[in-house]
Amino acid sequence: MKPFEYVAARTIDEAVEALASSKGPAKPLAGGTDLVVQLNEGRITLDRVVDIGRIPELKRVDVDAQGQLRLGAAAPCVDVYSHLNVQRLFPMLVDSASIIGSVQVQSRASIGGNLCNASPSGDSIPTLICLGAQAVIQGPSGRRVVPVEEFCTGPGQTVLQPAELVVEIVVPAPGENEGGKYLRFIPRNEMDIAVVGVGSWIRWEPQSGRITDARIALGAVAPTPVRAPEAEAALIGKEVSWDVIDEASRLAVNAARPISDVRGSAEYRRHLVSVLVRRTLLAALERAGVDVKDLGGEAYAG
Ligand SMILES: Cc1cc2nc3c(=O)[nH]c(=O)nc-3n(C[C@H](O)[C@H](O)[C@H](O)COP(=O)(O)OP(=O)(O)OC[C@H]3O[C@@H](n4cnc5c(N)ncnc54)[C@H](O)[C@@H]3O)c2cc1C
Repeated sequence: MKPFEYVAARTIDEAVEALASSKGPAKPLAGGTDLVVQLNEGRITLDRVVDIGRIPELKRVDVDAQGQLRLGAAAPCVDVYSHLNVQRLFPMLVDSASIIGSVQVQSRASIGGNLCNASPSGDSIPTLICLGAQAVIQGPSGRRVVPVEEFCTGPGQTVLQPAELVVEIVVPAPGENEGGKYLRFIPRNEMDIAVVGVGSWIRWEPQSGRITDARIALGAVAPTPVRAPEAEAALIGKEVSWDVIDEASRLAVNAARPISDVRGSAEYRRHLVSVLVRRTLLAALERAGVDVKDLGGEAYAG
């Protein structure tokens, strides 16, 4: 590993200044579970590493008076999924935060780091997209807000400009009759990278039984996590039924542009997309208060 300068920032301003004033490449370090591995393996070389893990604002996990989740970008996953209001209001985020690595990894790994690392298989990103989350970014020219859906621009690439930091992730308050679910497929029980990850989120109207809004986000099947617009359109306005779920799960495959690699062929990934969309939709509907057993035995077995 090439030697680098280590700076432990105490405030956001100090962190931005330390990144901006570095003579060579510099990056923030949150939990380090991606960055340290990349440095160790020589995949990146840096002149300066700016530790943001000691900045109190970046570690907070708060549900504010409006019911929005305000997630400090460096808050470790364990603080996210063990927060009682997160469990109550944002169970889909618990799905993601609780499967990133092992308990040891989760005690350091942050949702902000997972997002900024911009891996196509990052387990929190489809969930953040489904929940309509926004990334609050601070840099030398001030603050800006970018929807998470637009944040990743390629594998390991984001909209961040030099010396910019994600300081906070804001997730809108959940409404009535909404639910979301994230699932991934890995060949073993834990500590593996998603072959495919899928997040599904729906809102429905109990009086009419119709789905009024839907978001489906796919991971590990394109250079960035992607929405599945045809599948979403097939759900919105329809009465909840097994046929509608099945149709959406088949249409979601059209949004996938998978590659074949050691973890699975493109064809296998396309198959997994439809299986996981079906399963996440059923679980999302159940969380939204739909009695999915009423949809028929075949649906519930999914
Ligand atoms: C054993 C092991 C198992 C893993 N399992 C999984 C898994 O199951 N699923 C999964 O998705 N990932 C997994 N990972 C990858 C990693 O743990 C996650 O991506 C983690 O969430 C990264 O968070 P971090 O805080 O450690 O980020 P860091 O490593 O500190 O940073 C990651 C990248 O983001 C940048 N960065 C961090 N924070 C900010 C910020 N606030 N603003 C701007 N840039 C920032 C860093 O400069 C770096 O480029 C695993 C890693 C290991 C080592």
